[in-house]
Amino acid sequence: MKKVNGHEVIQLFEQFSPKAFAMEGDKVGLQIGALNQSVENVLVALDVTEEVVEEAIAKNVQLIIAHHPPIFRPLKRIATDTPAGRMIAKLIKHDIAVYAAHTNLDVAKGGVNDLLAAALGLNNPQVLVPTYEDQLKKLVVFVPEEDAERLRDALGKAGAGAIGNYSHCSFSGAGEGRFLPGENTDPHIGEQGKLEAVNEVRVETVFPQSIEKRVVQAMIKAHPYEEVAYDVYRLDNTGEQLGLGRIGQVEETNLSEYAKVVKEALGVDKVRVVGDLNAKVKKVAVLGGDGNKYYSQAKFRGADVYVTGDIYYHTAHDALMAGLNMIDPGHNVERVMKHGVATVMEGLCKEKGYDVTFIPSEIGTDPFTFI
Ligand SMILES: [Zn+2]
Repeated sequence: MKKVNGHEVIQLFEQFSPKAFAMEGDKVGLQIGALNQSVENVLVALDVTEEVVEEAIAKNVQLIIAHHPPIFRPLKRIATDTPAGRMIAKLIKHDIAVYAAHTNLDVAKGGVNDLLAAALGLNNPQVLVPTYEDQLKKLVVFVPEEDAERLRDALGKAGAGAIGNYSHCSFSGAGEGRFLPGENTDPHIGEQGKLEAVNEVRVETVFPQSIEKRVVQAMIKAHPYEEVAYDVYRLDNTGEQLGLGRIGQVEETNLSEYAKVVKEALGVDKVRVVGDLNAKVKKVAVLGGDGNKYYSQAKFRGADVYVTGDIYYHTAHDALMAGLNMIDPGHNVERVMKHGVATVMEGLCKEKGYDVTFIPSEIGTDPFTFI
């Protein structure tokens, strides 16, 4: 098992949840501390509160990955006799870094909204509110015949060549490559100062730009040449639409029964419900966090019920008038994130042989109590 630092952990995390997916103006990335120190334990939290910081200290954590950025508006001062200042001072004193992944984690495949959709039993969930087009790119690379199979396999494993439900898609054509190794070269085939002709294969494949770094790195690693000849270009094809919220079908039930499903799935005691409790529920829209401004999309896409947090009184009225039922389990709808992200990251680190443990925070940070 390999000891790692914060950069290595975050590099893997950003493969799963790239910063480019974040909405404009969101505060994502490293917020407190540094990533160049070694990391053994990572705490995955919804919010960073003083209690969560105490938990991190007790559990010997070097890095916190938080969904809600603890620093959202620019700080004017860090006064250590205020709760916020005290918390930051404590984090720095204990060398604990804080990294925030907010709307980029909402949008990411397998992120907050996919975790919610899975918890609520949605079949074949689709994006509710598109926010980001993952532009398609093409990679063309020239490789000696005998290494082509291994290279295609590495590209497929890195996620290139995924088209719909097909993976490892590529096209190969045979040709002749020519090169003249200069001084200070150590050619895989041929020798310095002698023009060489090699039977090569032109391999081409497509990939979304969010995984470009990983695809190109995997390709170079699997290629035998010292200097690899390859081209990357942009395509005008429409890329995959990513975004906030999900919509999908559940087994037919009614609003009151489905509210029970939501409570059970998200581990909350109470939910607020808008609409006729006997209304049919089959198509469900869900959006983690505060989804007030997207209720009309849920209605437009034909949802029978829209599950989201922090519903305002007036949004509830507008939804009632529009004939859209709603369920509000509170802002803590996102707490499925803690276990979900820890599981994803454990898997990615295991593949890499990284010696690091992910701990879902056990502190409930919902400030509300129902009595
Ligand atoms: Zn939130």
